Amino acid sequence: MTSPPEVIKVRCPQCATIFTDSIRGSINLSLGEEWTDEEIDEATSVTCPNCRHKQYGDSIIISID
Ligand SMILES: [Zn+2]
Repeated sequence: MTSPPEVIKVRCPQCATIFTDSIRGSINLSLGEEWTDEEIDEATSVTCPNCRHKQYGDSIIISID
């Protein structure tokens, strides 16, 4: 089952900016949901608004609102 988006708080490892973004923990492509590679990339990553550094996955999460 595809996780709903979660709003997370992230600290950029590159410039130390703290920002919030939304991310999905998992996406299930077997239920007939159609995702482009770009949508999957966007849904499973966060991008720093300051330096554009991109991160993926659970390791980036420091808190969940
Ligand atoms: Zn940054």
